[in-house]
Amino acid sequence: SPALVRAEALIRNVPDYPQPGIIFRDITPLLADAEALRVTTEAIIEPFAGQFDVIAGIEARGFILASAAAIAAGVGLIPIRKAGKLPRPAASVDYALEYGTATIEMHDDLPAGSRVLLIDDVLATGGTLAAGRELVERLGSHVVGISVLFEIDGLGGREAVGDLHTVFHSA
Ligand code: 5GP
Repeated sequence: SPALVRAEALIRNVPDYPQPGIIFRDITPLLADAEALRVTTEAIIEPFAGQFDVIAGIEARGFILASAAAIAAGVGLIPIRKAGKLPRPAASVDYALEYGTATIEMHDDLPAGSRVLLIDDVLATGGTLAAGRELVERLGSHVVGISVLFEIDGLGGREAVGDLHTVFHSA
């Protein structure tokens, strides 16, 4: 749609951030635009309508879209956080970064067997969302879909996470 084309043009490419040689996809100009935020939020959840009970969002930019999507879909929100931020984590999953490892954690605030839509802003290598899927499954729930605003192609992310819906992707 024209509104989505317009929204995509609001994603800013920032060279050499956070390190030399990296092009960072900055979604903040899109978030700042009312229509772009609305149409992209709808596009993130649209293929999964009626198929999920709750949305899980990944810290930190994932929280923004996941929370907007949860309100749009009429479901609750579960935050998946970096280690040490939640007071009562029920599960944690370690995953590899380019240099070193990271850990994400989740509370057990959803009934076992819940149907979860997992949301983040950007997919790169897929390590973060693959770990998010494992976390949800360890707590006995089911990931019905993974949805991101922007997929960076060519880093193997799609293969790493399995069934993936993306609104935009790098050319
Ligand atoms: P992955 O685990 O797929 O390699 O990296 C994805 C995570 O890193 C996401 O949580 C995402 O927020 C962040 N990320 C990686 N590259 C970018 C980028 O270019 N732009 C933004 N906004 N986030 C990124």
